[in-house]
Amino acid sequence: MPERIPRHITLQRYEEFAQGFCECCEKTLTKYKRGRHHGKGSWEAHHAFPDRPITIKNIRIMCAHGRNCHFYCGHDGDWYNIGIWPRFCRRI
Ligand SMILES: [Zn+2]
Ligand SMILES: [Zn+2]
Repeated sequence: MPERIPRHITLQRYEEFAQGFCECCEKTLTKYKRGRHHGKGSWEAHHAFPDRPITIKNIRIMCAHGRNCHFYCGHDGDWYNIGIWPRFCRRI
């Protein structure tokens, strides 16, 4: 299932790395739309390297709306799959 990543780490990653764009497909995100139920611009933090602890280095900000990176790229289309960081975006 989706990871529980502390809010402060999530927002720090968004500010310092993602800066308003999905880190996988580079789609534009909307800062206040954290979570997957806010329509276009929704985004979530993803624990990209589950064998490493949840730190700002080991998470990624990913789009979470429609055919989205968090589900298709981060979890290969099944929330029960362990999280990965794909070499290529699989969304398109
Ligand atoms: Zn994306
Ligand atoms: Zn992607």
